[in-house]
Amino acid sequence: MLDPDTLWEIYKEENKKMKCHKCNKSMTYVKGIQFNEYKIDGWKCTCGEIHYDPEQAQKVLLLNKLKKEVIRAKLGKIRSNLILRLPKDIETALDLEKGEDVLIKIEDKGIKIIPA
Ligand SMILES: [Zn+2]
Repeated sequence: MLDPDTLWEIYKEENKKMKCHKCNKSMTYVKGIQFNEYKIDGWKCTCGEIHYDPEQAQKVLLLNKLKKEVIRAKLGKIRSNLILRLPKDIETALDLEKGEDVLIKIEDKGIKIIPA
């Protein structure tokens, strides 16, 4: 029995064989296509048509949206440590995971958190 992760990998492999909706030719899966100021994966056709990986494109759009906002968060406390709860959107957009290290930089007007 295949576990869901393996099935998903197979599903994604299958979907890499994508047909162009303009000319119906097979599209090639390419890594690092320019999308806004980011590079994501997607499918390219010889006719010039590009189909971006929807999951990655979604992340870039979410990131761009979040960059324009000021996000308010509350500080909590566990024992003697202050904790900062990050909204789900930030977790998704920056691919953050529980247990992961981040870097904290003190700046003149606050702190900057950088995924390590
Ligand atoms: Zn095409």
